[in-house]
Amino acid sequence: MIAKPRWLRRNIISSAKIEGTRKVLRDFSINTVCESAKCPNLCECFEKGVATFITLGDICTRGCRFCAVTAGTPSAPDPEEPAKIYEAIKGLHLEYVVITSVTRDDLPDGGAGHYAATVRYLKERSNDIKIEALVPDLKGKAEYISEVCGSGIDVFAHNLDTVKRLHKSVKPNCDYYLSLCVLGKARDISRGVIPTKSGLMLGLGETEEDILSTMRDLRNVGCGMITLGQYLKPSPSRIEEREFISPKIFEKYKEIAYNLGFTRVSSGPFVRSSYHITR
Ligand code: SF4
Repeated sequence: MIAKPRWLRRNIISSAKIEGTRKVLRDFSINTVCESAKCPNLCECFEKGVATFITLGDICTRGCRFCAVTAGTPSAPDPEEPAKIYEAIKGLHLEYVVITSVTRDDLPDGGAGHYAATVRYLKERSNDIKIEALVPDLKGKAEYISEVCGSGIDVFAHNLDTVKRLHKSVKPNCDYYLSLCVLGKARDISRGVIPTKSGLMLGLGETEEDILSTMRDLRNVGCGMITLGQYLKPSPSRIEEREFISPKIFEKYKEIAYNLGFTRVSSGPFVRSSYHITR
């Protein structure tokens, strides 16, 4: 195990606002990535009343080696979940929300129907809420991707999480090319109207050439937004960090990404798909 550098040290704080955010989430039984993935930004985001919601339960059918979400057999989708998410959004006064989902290979449509119904429920009640969909690969099926794209989402995001060379070892039950295909299909289906976005965690042993090549692959499927953040092992059973990338190197990758044509780039040790998202 390598020691964490000073730029990755963060104070854990507690405040009435953080507790208030936790209470709203608890009151409506909302699962969040913030808590499930043990996100290092939790205190900062909860202090601002911001959270990333997980729909379709808190058990994932894939079991990627970096992820803190429990793998196993999930329960049936909760039909009350759209209403609970809506109440939580109101309670937190959110205008922009990232809603993600565990992978649901157990459901015939990968959970696309429930996901889309949730977005429609929210949009019917307040069209002012901007929704970023951070979805699993939905088995790569055009009809499921289409269902999500047609539900009223404002951004379609699907994370590659790591570079092509490491993909199989970090995400053994996923497929790099299928993920690229999902992003390409979302762009084609929405005729480029819905921006597409992806994210990579760095520090898993990738090289600069690995990162560049993966960024080029994303540009080739029309992906216009990217996040680059440091992988931090969330629990003892998860894959080790191989390297801590310095803020200066993250800045360098940001510049490279803009030069490759991405229109929005967030790059830094604490960057996550949903970090500092406001629009
Ligand atoms: S960065 Fe995203 S996942 Fe992490 S605490 Fe903030 S909203 Fe939650």
